[in-house]
Amino acid sequence: MSNTKLRVLPLGGLGEIGKNMTVVEYDGSIVVVDTGLRFPTAEQVGIDLVLPDFTYLRERADDIEGIVITHGHEDHLGALPWILRELGTDIPVFGGPLTMAMARSKLDEHRLKETDLTDVTPGEKLELGPFDIELVHMTHSIPDMMAVALTTDLGTMLITGDYKFDQTPVDGKPADVTRLAEMGREGLLLLCGDSTNADRPGFSPSESVAGPGLEAVFGRCKGRIVVTCFASNIHRVQQVIDAAKIHKRKVVLVGRSMRKNINIGRMLGHIEVPDGMLVQPREARDFPDEKLIIVSTGSQGEPLSALRRMAYKDHPQVELHQGDTVVFAATPIPGNERAVNDTIDRLYHIGCDVITAKDAPIHASGHGYQEEIKLMLNLTQPKYVMPFHGDHKRIHLHAELAEAVGVKPENIFKGENGLPLEIDEKGARFGKPERAGMIYVDGVDIGDPTDVALRDRRMLSADGIFVVVATISEQDGSSVADPEIIFRGVPYSQDAEKLLGDIRESVNHSLERAAKDEIREIDLLQQLLHDDLAKFVYERLRRRPMVLPVVVEV
Ligand SMILES: [Zn+2]
Ligand SMILES: [Zn+2]
Repeated sequence: MSNTKLRVLPLGGLGEIGKNMTVVEYDGSIVVVDTGLRFPTAEQVGIDLVLPDFTYLRERADDIEGIVITHGHEDHLGALPWILRELGTDIPVFGGPLTMAMARSKLDEHRLKETDLTDVTPGEKLELGPFDIELVHMTHSIPDMMAVALTTDLGTMLITGDYKFDQTPVDGKPADVTRLAEMGREGLLLLCGDSTNADRPGFSPSESVAGPGLEAVFGRCKGRIVVTCFASNIHRVQQVIDAAKIHKRKVVLVGRSMRKNINIGRMLGHIEVPDGMLVQPREARDFPDEKLIIVSTGSQGEPLSALRRMAYKDHPQVELHQGDTVVFAATPIPGNERAVNDTIDRLYHIGCDVITAKDAPIHASGHGYQEEIKLMLNLTQPKYVMPFHGDHKRIHLHAELAEAVGVKPENIFKGENGLPLEIDEKGARFGKPERAGMIYVDGVDIGDPTDVALRDRRMLSADGIFVVVATISEQDGSSVADPEIIFRGVPYSQDAEKLLGDIRESVNHSLERAAKDEIREIDLLQQLLHDDLAKFVYERLRRRPMVLPVVVEV
């Protein structure tokens, strides 16, 4: 018997779609499940990425036994480089082989070496401090999706990750319902389940419907075909390749992440491409239009994606023209609709035909609908339920589904980021809120230099530039003159003098902090000034101008 508390603290993913991250604590030890990020909304101009605020873990870094990643999607894996860099590259990370391969490639891009990544296969048992951990195979829109079961003296809790119950998945490996049912029979303490499609009645269609749908669409196309989908949707790309084979077309993969993921997928045997079918982008010109299918990133209208650049006639290898058909084998994630519509409109302007999931059955969601959420609840028979992975509305609907299948209303916890659920022998309740929010990442220190130039130009044209010149003493790092602030092209509607004064004050604060923390390295100091000022300006003006700090030592 134990009087220790189990604490489940979501740092992201509740009340929003994206940046999933959960801290599970027991007996002084921590396991983190998922380290996701979110892409900025249209208002967050100039921001590249949004991460969960993981301040809570900074103070507890030594207690982290490990990080478990459910699958390779950005909203579960994407923040890993920042988290390991801040909390320690020696923290062990676990996940399926594809997930770990994607993590490795990401960490390499961030030049993080000497990390500790371990492949785990479903059914394998892991011991991390007081936790016994088991991964359970699930189906989703990426292979190697695993739910995470964490067992302590108090019982077993299950974080489902993203799932659907696909009875006919493309790889022939349905979710391990047997294991889920066994857990239910043993008695599950807590279920934290995916709420993404809690608003959709019925069952989700199987991924394998997209294959025949794509084949039929391709059959109607006379000219070149461009298919866009998520680069990580390896089974969707497989179905594009199968349909291309039937129509005797060659396939060109365009976009860095598309090429990277398909490479990893091929290496791990998740995707099969017939010999001679893939054509390099620069060789594509040698083939007639009716013999080509281009598979491209950009299904979400992402600003620097291959499709978006094609739509803006700015792609170095692919020039679209009348007669081309662009097939969107993905639906926009909430928030991306505007960018997707803009891309589609540009494509029409060029003279392309556009086919979306509204026109043909070429897309299936990776998240289970209401009946699948109920099936999960009925299989696992949880005592307590805390819906995950959804905005407040979907969390609420998920809670209603739990009630409908007989979970006691007082045992259903509609949580939010930063609010820990605490379970002990006496019961479950929400604890005192912890800090949770967002961290913005702006600045690409990796990748294609043209990406950086484009981003800089976008930022300058939208929000202008701030230059801060700080003069500090060589002896003790203290500020020896008022910081000089110059700005150009920054839209603002406030009193300029007051704004400048406030900014100067904020810069002085940062300098004081740096002096106190003995940050003397000019690069670090400039980084700190940049981050603080960017944040300050964003909070005041809701703008993300380019910030150029210059530190002079005297
Ligand atoms: Zn996912
Ligand atoms: Zn997700």
